[in-house]
Amino acid sequence: MSANNALHIAVLAGDGIGPEVMAPALEMLRKIEAKSDLKFRFTEAPAGANHYRETGKSMPDSTIRLCEEADAILLGACGLPSVRYPDNTEIMPQVELRFHFDLYAGVRPARLIPGVPSPIVRADQRGIDLVVIRESTEGLFASMGKGVVTHEEARETLVITRKTSERLFEFSFRLAERRKARGRVNGGLTCVDKANVFKAFAFFREMFDEAAQRHPEVKTDRLYVDACSAMLVKRPWDFDVMVMENMFGDILSDMTAGLIGGMGMAPSADIGDRYAVFQPCHGTAPDIMGQGKANPTGMILSAAMMLDWLADKHGLESAAEAGETIERAVDKAYADGIKPIEFGGRNGTADITKAVLAAL
Ligand code: ATP
Repeated sequence: MSANNALHIAVLAGDGIGPEVMAPALEMLRKIEAKSDLKFRFTEAPAGANHYRETGKSMPDSTIRLCEEADAILLGACGLPSVRYPDNTEIMPQVELRFHFDLYAGVRPARLIPGVPSPIVRADQRGIDLVVIRESTEGLFASMGKGVVTHEEARETLVITRKTSERLFEFSFRLAERRKARGRVNGGLTCVDKANVFKAFAFFREMFDEAAQRHPEVKTDRLYVDACSAMLVKRPWDFDVMVMENMFGDILSDMTAGLIGGMGMAPSADIGDRYAVFQPCHGTAPDIMGQGKANPTGMILSAAMMLDWLADKHGLESAAEAGETIERAVDKAYADGIKPIEFGGRNGTADITKAVLAAL
């Protein structure tokens, strides 16, 4: 926080629909500023495929320095299928930031907002309110850029470390405790793995069990990822907080975003001990960019998550309240009939932004 108590936010809008969803989120924060004692200082910085195309780098050093100095980082979406490194992989500064800032906990809430259609039968009556915590610095992604491919075979190595897993589980238990304190009944924490087949996941589960002993007040469960996928589709309301390896979380968090209406609805945060990046779950959606169709809800809810994290970090009660105010405004906009183009409705970015701003 700077001398005048303004929270300094690094803003990396990125590529594709990134800037289109970032603008509404900043509008929400400016309105919060006008309504509360919170002050923000936004500094925009380049990152992504367009920057790579122009300069040969996914982001300049000045962007990293800005992120180091800021209180929090807001990111739109980065990468374009048409812009690639020489090895054919996409430009992903958002993944680089996870490694650079050791953002091991990828937090992906999936809450079904009343009025939003879910593909799951009876979800409108039972509700969905779960959080996937995706370890974000190791697992199979530890092999990124290091895989070995010959004409005959390809190898990528999965890494699970005690240091990261223990911090990940502590974070997960703490989140389950906070959700319980905020009134979540019948909640708990589920460890999702493949401990029946791989030693690495047996190790993962063993460390989870050790952490569970330190948090006896949290109800725990252990599931294999394949069985868990089926249960998520059949009874998503049975889940509260779920913690898993990077690749499993990559896949299951897209699925849970699907359960609550679509990619545009899902917020996320990548959190470490000191830094955190807040961005929607979705990518740059080049198929709809520049058409005013992007749903900004996931980005707006990511900004709300940022406020909650800043509140926890700096003891700022008003930031926690502001985060909840944004969530309630989103709920009201949908209760009043907003229906994004993303799931068959008529409302694009401008309508959704206007409705949430009006409810704020
Ligand atoms: P990445 O690999 O970066 O996650 P992706 O190509 O897998 O990206 P997205 O860019 O998230 O996936 O797009 C997947 C689909 O979801 C596309 O059809 C896209 O139009 C749609 N989509 C994604 N985000 C939104 C949004 N905010 N509003 C509406 N539709 C969206």
